[in-house]
Amino acid sequence: MLPYHLVYHEGYDLKLGDHVFPSQKYRFIHDRLLRDRFATEEDFVRPEPAPDADILAVHEPGWVDRLRSGTLSYHEMVQLEVPYSRELVEAFWLAAGGSTLAARLALEQGIGFNIGGGFHHAFAGHGEGFCAINDIAVAIRRMQRDGCIERAMVVDCDVHHGNGTAAIFAGDASVFTLSIHQFNNYPSEKPPSSLDIHMPDGTGDEEYLHRLGEGYRTAMSLFHPELLVYVAGADPYCEDQLGGLALSFDGLRERDRLVIWTALHSRIPVAIVLAGGYAMSVLDTVTIHANTARVAKEVLEKTGWKAAP
Ligand SMILES: [Zn+2]
Repeated sequence: MLPYHLVYHEGYDLKLGDHVFPSQKYRFIHDRLLRDRFATEEDFVRPEPAPDADILAVHEPGWVDRLRSGTLSYHEMVQLEVPYSRELVEAFWLAAGGSTLAARLALEQGIGFNIGGGFHHAFAGHGEGFCAINDIAVAIRRMQRDGCIERAMVVDCDVHHGNGTAAIFAGDASVFTLSIHQFNNYPSEKPPSSLDIHMPDGTGDEEYLHRLGEGYRTAMSLFHPELLVYVAGADPYCEDQLGGLALSFDGLRERDRLVIWTALHSRIPVAIVLAGGYAMSVLDTVTIHANTARVAKEVLEKTGWKAAP
């Protein structure tokens, strides 16, 4: 039995078919972890869709209504970059419920791992870049409203800037947002995070880990979160179709170790969400995400975890 739970639902699949976003990756990761005997069926927990009240704590009612009723404007559909369907909407509500559950489990067990979520391009009033509902923000707001935490930090290591998350938490002193991303990439407009680390094209393991370590440790010395949400995008990988950084499998594992170790070592629980990953071979994307689950187990076992009294 794993020392933490894996949050997964077969409804996470956005059913996009032959799209650059391989939304079947969630099922592939689930299957890989089982096949490799890293996990057994008992290690998985199924989330419920997030209640509308949780969604509305982050998103504008008009946006939520239009998503629910299928009345997005043409411009809104184009901006979303994924074809609208009822299943798509259900999948976003489930992902938000999953990230919320992962945050709750993290507070109990040190790690909560959502095999989904990380839709960091969703803003309060619109969606873009494959993201309609910002599950990261929904989870943090719910933990705050339940009185479980006051302060949270988001460490977003997807190759793309976390624009939606940055905008949602702008001016909110209770949430620190850190985004490390390729500067010359989508989104062209990058609303400031609390800390943005802009990386040049083609950055490799060494430089990336150096800049991340420096920024992350500075952030941790300024701000003491009670929960860390790690947005573990697989798209800084060297063979990613939408990314222009050059991290290796080993570099990505080191990145995971750096983020998770630094938090757990300071007794800060970590909720992990997946975000992007568009490797030429979907199997590489699956390997990167599965490796994050392995690193989380190693670090959790090494640091030990006792919930704060
Ligand atoms: Zn991305």
